[in-house]
Amino acid sequence: MIIRLPERSLELESATNGRFWRVNAGGRVIYVVKGGIPEGVASTLPKGSCLDIKGGTPLTSRELVPGGTRVRIGDAEFGGERIVVCAGPCAVESPEQLFDAARRVKEAGAGVLRGGAFKPRTSPYSFQGLGEEGLKILREASDEFGIPVLTEATNADQIPLVARYADAVQIGARNMQNFDLLRAAGRSGIPVVLKRGISATIEEWMNAAEYVLLEGNWNVVLCERGIRTFETATRNVMDVAGMALAKLISHLPVMADPSHATGRRDLIIAASKAAVAAGADGLLIEVHPRPESALSDGPQSLTPEQFGHLMSEVSSVARAVGRS
Ligand code: PEP
Ligand code: MN
Repeated sequence: MIIRLPERSLELESATNGRFWRVNAGGRVIYVVKGGIPEGVASTLPKGSCLDIKGGTPLTSRELVPGGTRVRIGDAEFGGERIVVCAGPCAVESPEQLFDAARRVKEAGAGVLRGGAFKPRTSPYSFQGLGEEGLKILREASDEFGIPVLTEATNADQIPLVARYADAVQIGARNMQNFDLLRAAGRSGIPVVLKRGISATIEEWMNAAEYVLLEGNWNVVLCERGIRTFETATRNVMDVAGMALAKLISHLPVMADPSHATGRRDLIIAASKAAVAAGADGLLIEVHPRPESALSDGPQSLTPEQFGHLMSEVSSVARAVGRS
């Protein structure tokens, strides 16, 4: 049960006997109440304030915001007519590499610059990112080229640091159920790109988003980045229908990450077009000025030229489905 009120109600809180969560939602108060509320109290609430949403993730549910939520990262808006493309290298490696990438992706029409400073790597011997130094480089490139920046935090303690430098934080697939991290990102209020876990069900993904919303942060963009199946020919399997389902059942914008979903440079344009045709509100694309020397995810990184080609291919599909 969801109850939307203009302000906090101590009467409701005492009547529900601790079975409630209170969320601040842009000047209004939303209560999530477990079980029903006594009839005597229900009748005193303003008409239309109670919403009986089925399922375990009421804040994320599309029933709460039927028209969908728009989320801004800097000037880029997700969930409107325009498809927002976030692009940049997997990892920030040097000022030269990132500035080169930032200039080229911005020229090609990207709305958000991406780049990892804290990298969650499968092997501890792989490049782990430049840490705070990488965040500084991201901020400088963002200011230089006038493009907002998205970067990953891998634990809750990093959130204040990332929020100081970046316009949005990415919660990676491996951390989708790091509940402390989700709560910390929620408390900070910074826009969040929440990747689906490698083996996470849609329900688990929605629950992860619910943790962020419950802290009063409604700026969440969901990101389908491929799930693990028996297939090994591609790095993961991009769940296009799952992405479309996420849009149906939740009010949050949804984007696709064909780079991690396919792991192969030569599949990224096809997968991007499929995602946009299926209703993606955005794309996350890895672009590196010299993919052959990338310190992470080189095989799936596009050159800036290939990225320019992707942008024009994707824009034809966007127009065909009434987007731009
Ligand atoms: C990334 O975006 O570089 C990344 C590590 O993504 P994921 O968490 O989806 O693997
Ligand atoms: Mn990567």
